[in-house]
Amino acid sequence: MNAMKTLYTCPMDPDVLSDKPGICPKCGMALTPIGGKHADHHGHHSSMEEDFRKRFFLTLPLVIATLLLSPTIQQWLPFPFTIPWQDWLVFVFGSVVVLFGGKPFFVAAKGELSARNFGMMTLVAFALTVGYVFSVAATLFFPLESFYWELATLVSVFLLGHWLEMRAVRGTTGALAELTKLLPPIAHLLHDKEIRDVDLSTIKKGDRVLIRPGEKIPIDGNVVEGESSVNESMITGESKPVQKRVGDAVIGGSLNADGSLTIVVTKTGEETTIAQIIQLIADAQSSKPKAQELADRAANILTIVAIVVGTGTFVYWMFLSPAGAVVAATFAVSVVVIACPHALGLAIPTVTTITTTLAAKHGILIKNMKGLEAARKVNAVVFDKTGTLTTGNFGVEGSVDDNILRLAAAVEQHSQHSLARGIVEEANRRNLTIPPAQQFQSFPGKGALAVVEGKRVLVGNAELLKDHRINPPSDTERKGATPVFVVVDSTPTVLFLSDTVREESKQAITALKRMGIQTVMLTGDTDDVANVVGSSLDIDTVFSRVLPDQKVDRVKELQRQGKIVAMVGDGVNDAPSLTQAHVGIAIGSGTDVAVESADIVLMKSNPLDIVTVFTLSRATNRKMMQNLFWAAGYNLLAIPVAAGLLTPYGIMMRPEWAALLMSMSSVIVVANALLLRRTKLA
Ligand code: ADP
Ligand code: MG
Repeated sequence: MNAMKTLYTCPMDPDVLSDKPGICPKCGMALTPIGGKHADHHGHHSSMEEDFRKRFFLTLPLVIATLLLSPTIQQWLPFPFTIPWQDWLVFVFGSVVVLFGGKPFFVAAKGELSARNFGMMTLVAFALTVGYVFSVAATLFFPLESFYWELATLVSVFLLGHWLEMRAVRGTTGALAELTKLLPPIAHLLHDKEIRDVDLSTIKKGDRVLIRPGEKIPIDGNVVEGESSVNESMITGESKPVQKRVGDAVIGGSLNADGSLTIVVTKTGEETTIAQIIQLIADAQSSKPKAQELADRAANILTIVAIVVGTGTFVYWMFLSPAGAVVAATFAVSVVVIACPHALGLAIPTVTTITTTLAAKHGILIKNMKGLEAARKVNAVVFDKTGTLTTGNFGVEGSVDDNILRLAAAVEQHSQHSLARGIVEEANRRNLTIPPAQQFQSFPGKGALAVVEGKRVLVGNAELLKDHRINPPSDTERKGATPVFVVVDSTPTVLFLSDTVREESKQAITALKRMGIQTVMLTGDTDDVANVVGSSLDIDTVFSRVLPDQKVDRVKELQRQGKIVAMVGDGVNDAPSLTQAHVGIAIGSGTDVAVESADIVLMKSNPLDIVTVFTLSRATNRKMMQNLFWAAGYNLLAIPVAAGLLTPYGIMMRPEWAALLMSMSSVIVVANALLLRRTKLA
């Protein structure tokens, strides 16, 4: 784990990346670590949260004192009083609140200014500076009314708002922390029959590690001794415990139940499953959804609006409809404050974080948010057959000559195809020695060829035979099984292999059809096998004998018809279609290439999770749109009020009310995102 270096990002803006902790140059939030060691997690972030809390409570008595001593507030008190040096006390208290309480905002604004990225903090600091300088001038030089009490309440509300907001955001950034916490810090290393507890980071490949009953499995490995059931739900989402015996692989982070296991470590550091999942989630959380572009544009517009309308407001109330400098400055400050696009920075990332976490908990990895966003509009789902709708675990049917099987396995040991794996497994089951093969050549969608023991051996389908001008043997039909021809020195024989339809495939197809989504199956397999599977699942459209490059064409064809297409696949031959489709969904047990090309990975390899993806997509999109409204919509509506448009009707927005509304928008946005956790994903 410690091979990974710790990067820091802003909880508001995943684009911000830094290799050391600090303050985000865009918004002034403390940066949070991603994918690092758990000791660092949230340490810095919670100290910023703590800082806001401390400053809020320390300045609160001074804010109250400033309020009580201010002439404006005194007018409303039932028992007005005066004390000596009153104005000077207000000046001192107000100054302490602005300078000490407001310090984090000035620091952050400096960060924004030096990064030439003017945003929220620039606006806040601008508003505070203008107000404060004006008031100090009034105290020291001019017979003008000061507004320390407004400034003090403004700072107070900002501090409170930030404190609450960071607390809430902390609740949304937990995904990666939760995952890294899955690993125990130490492992029991077995060395010459001796057990030593060592730091997990010192474990190397090939080490033997003991896992006692009830303990977390610290690292990826293969069982060499013992038997136990293991709960892998935190990694795969699969809640049923899995039985592990000698030879089985175990995943670091899963929970050992009743037995004791000895494993040989197979992966360390960045190669471990959990490190890769963390990397995927970190990537996903920094993959920008389309809605983010909308939010960014709105934030820029709001900043400009704030400055333009703020200045305009001041000019209007100062010169055009003179109401005095105090009123003009008050309105201007209110405008700038209410238009702060702060909540906009939060609106989308908070949703993204919760969505990816929620999905991960259900065994769904979202690699690309744009894919998830598009999922809600999908009206055609294209499935690959082998390994996707079926398990891809092929068994050899009937009797087969050992020698043929041995030669076929020699070729197939070099292939990634699931049929190839079936053949090699059968040879192993029969304890046949598989000879080496030379000059291996693969024909995607057709089969493979190699030289074994000096003989040319072809393994593949009828198409492959035709390409090599070999006539197929008779009797090549067996209902629902895939014929695989093995040609040894031009003499063809046939093997039949079959796998089983996944239990959940039928439910998935039924659910999709009920949602009005067209279902399509693509396979390179024979018409016969395709039809057996297609009709048992009741799929709308079945295409068989589709060559790998034709799979993409089928997807493009559907897209040309105006369909929004999701492609679900597992194989190397599905990778181009996964990329081409609007939403690429890979089956977790599939090949790395498929997983790499997909937007979304179903870790449980359960087709029914596609329905979950669609549900999640709808819920996510709804939340994003709601958040955009809460972040920007109501602020925009409130700007005219802040500018003093409703003064003729006696309605005025004071800066502290503007600050409250502004902070409320952030809090609402975060709280609204958190509600997403409640989404029912069956
Ligand atoms: P699918 O994933 O739908 O099965 P493929 O394009 O991978 O589609 O394969 C199509 C067909 O090509 C298979 O059904 C099989 O008959 C043949 N084939 C491909 N690769 C191999 C292989 N390595 N060994 C035997 N047959 C193969
Ligand atoms: Mg496949």
